[in-house]
Order: sequence, then structure tokens, then C-alpha cells
Amino acid sequence: MKERIALFPGSFDPITKGHESIVLRALPLFDKIIVAIGENPAKKHLSEMFSFQQRLLWLKQTFANFDKIEIKSFSCLTIDFARQTGAEYILRGLRNPTDFQYESNIARINQDLSPEIETVFLMTTPEDAIISSSLVKEILTFGGDIRRFLPLQVAETIVKATQVICTNT
Ligand code: ADP
Repeated sequence: MKERIALFPGSFDPITKGHESIVLRALPLFDKIIVAIGENPAKKHLSEMFSFQQRLLWLKQTFANFDKIEIKSFSCLTIDFARQTGAEYILRGLRNPTDFQYESNIARINQDLSPEIETVFLMTTPEDAIISSSLVKEILTFGGDIRRFLPLQVAETIVKATQVICTNT
């Protein structure tokens, strides 16, 4: 039987417990999940906090114990990369109506461009619904405690690298 391969694309800047939970919950549905950093030249420099190498390392550490999960990166259209890797499914997570609006537009465009590739959505768990990479970056900028939002290995590295700064302005 043909392998069911899903691609989970994202910036993962950084990977959060929300991402981790989507991938782990999707695992029984597929034979293989490729978690891949999409290098988006339009987004670059605007909101990236962590280097490509760092983000890749955190992905590898987070999913190190899972044979069915592969870590990759790409800088082309997501559907082109999906086709290249043999993935017939694109996995995405949904937290709220804003995600739905954004994701449904992308899914429709991808469907138009490449009807043989299906986008599959998983709803976030209630406890992960508030987590986003941008929230983590914002809290981190001011030295807040973000450990509860991150996979263990990521939390340890980030916390070590952060200093608490609180000045009166
Ligand atoms: P992008 O730059 O493509 O938005 P992200 O790394 O922010 O990439 O997110 C990748 C995918 O993970 C998206 O489908 C996003 O909706 C989903 N996601 C992000 N945070 C969560 C969360 N807390 N719960 C569920 N899904 C999430």
C-alpha cells in the first residue's frame, strides 16, 4: 500500500507545545510526517527571532524519539515541496476563527494549484489554544517565563539564553 505522507510546514520560530501537540496527535493518521521549516523570503527579517539552524535543531530535538517524523526545510511553494517529497497531505493546526480564515484561503489556493494534495486540519487542544510563536517571542523579549509553552528541550535552551530585564521608563 502507498505510504501516507503528510507535510507539516511552518516557521517554527520557535516550535511550541501547540505545534508539537498537532504533530503527535496526527501521527496515528499517517505513515510519515515531514515537519519542515518554510523559508519565506517575504517574512524574513520581519519577525524572525531565531536563526534557521537553531529552529532546525529544536525541531530535531523535539521529535528525536519518533521514527515516523522527519525534519526538513524548503524555500519554494509549499505544494511544490509536498509533491517533491511525495506528501499527499498538508497538515495544519487551527486555534481560532482567525486561523480558520487565514488557513482556509491558503488551503483553497493550494487545492486550486494542486488538487491531488489535501490539506488536513486538526483543532488545537484547549490548553494549547493560547500558544503562538509570536506570543512566546513577545514574552521572551521582556524576560518572562515561557517554559509552559515550549517543548522541554526548547524551554531549557531558551531560558538559559534569556536575561530578565526590567527597567523603569
Ligand atoms: P506559519 O509561519 O506558517 O504561520 P507557524 O510556525 O506559526 O507557521 O505555524 C505552523 C502551523 O501550526 C500553522 O498551521 C499554525 O496554525 C499551527 N499552530 C501554531 N500554533 C498552534 C497552536 N498553539 N495550536 C495548534 N496549531 C498551531
